[in-house]
Amino acid sequence: MKYRKLAGEDVSILGFGLMRLPTYDENGGNIDKEKTYEMIQYAVDNGINYFDTAYVYHNRKSEVVAGEIFENHNLRDKIKIATKLPTWHVTCEDDVTRMLDEQLANLRTDYIDFYLCHALDKNRFDNIILKYNVLPLLEKAKAEGKIRHIGFSFHDDLETFKRILDSYDGWEFCQIQLNYINTDYQAGLEGLRYAAQQRGIGVVIMEPLFGGKLANPSEQIVRELPAGKHPVESAFDFLWNRPEVCVTLSGMGTMQMVRDNIKYAENAEVGMLSETDLAAYARAKHVFDTMALVPCTKCAYCMPCPFGVDIPGVYEAYNKLPVSGKQKAKEMYAALSSDGSKCVGCGACSRVCPQGIMTPSLMKDIHEKLA
Ligand code: SF4
Ligand code: SF4
Repeated sequence: MKYRKLAGEDVSILGFGLMRLPTYDENGGNIDKEKTYEMIQYAVDNGINYFDTAYVYHNRKSEVVAGEIFENHNLRDKIKIATKLPTWHVTCEDDVTRMLDEQLANLRTDYIDFYLCHALDKNRFDNIILKYNVLPLLEKAKAEGKIRHIGFSFHDDLETFKRILDSYDGWEFCQIQLNYINTDYQAGLEGLRYAAQQRGIGVVIMEPLFGGKLANPSEQIVRELPAGKHPVESAFDFLWNRPEVCVTLSGMGTMQMVRDNIKYAENAEVGMLSETDLAAYARAKHVFDTMALVPCTKCAYCMPCPFGVDIPGVYEAYNKLPVSGKQKAKEMYAALSSDGSKCVGCGACSRVCPQGIMTPSLMKDIHEKLA
């Protein structure tokens, strides 16, 4: 495993995202602890030391299961834990300390190495972080030894990203969505450079595979990517190539993924890609941009839909239309346990969607096309 510096600490370039763990149920709350333990132990044995969870992952079970595994198998001293304050649940100052203490208990630890304000955007920064004095409260928690480094994860536009970075000198790291498709989306490559070079803080990357879409892309995209590598390796290399990238997170759900990703990390170096390689990624992005219909990453923040719609499932089927044709898309749609016909347009999903997808205005149209 290779390591880079994040807020002065040595962290593995491959981070283990604990948000797509193996489960027994579709809802994601019933985690298969045995399989999860085997994956985590293998990851630690092979040098991964950065584990990223959040209060809300797996219906609030990710932290709990991870904490149990870390304690039962004496892993705490070998790893760095990153977790996140669910900013949208903060309605007063007391919520911050209460949820942090709950997270420490969930994770069975006295301290969290990297603590992030989760999924900041303009509204949450102005109307939650600033309004409820979250940052002074986190500084107090840091002084008390409950957290070691203060950061934030981000989903909004570049201008907002820079404003959040410039508004507070205490940020030690941040986490952005980046992959070879999203180079000019949200913070993008310019935001990555701004954080690292202008603000001097480390950057953690999420969604390196764009919600899995780059793990098994269409033939048209594979044809453009640098030859001789698996598409997953190509996607990671695009990020590891850059000196500003400290950790690249992967939400690993099977042992095979853990094994493969560790193997890819062994070959990674800053500056490993040539100009020819970079031009190939740009062509692959162009192909993708002209084919994807809805930029859903399957993060499932919108789930469960109060009316039972399998929202990411609907978008996955819909995005098959230009890639695999109408027949395949319709088959996938028909196989959903709950399709878009149940949508009443309440908007609960679009209010929390980090990609800004306006589901209420899309579902009816998609159902008409695929039903
Ligand atoms: S807008 Fe439709 S899909 Fe979204 S939460 Fe409401 S009912 Fe569910
Ligand atoms: S619709 Fe938005 S919130 Fe729901 S899974 Fe897709 S990207 Fe995530």
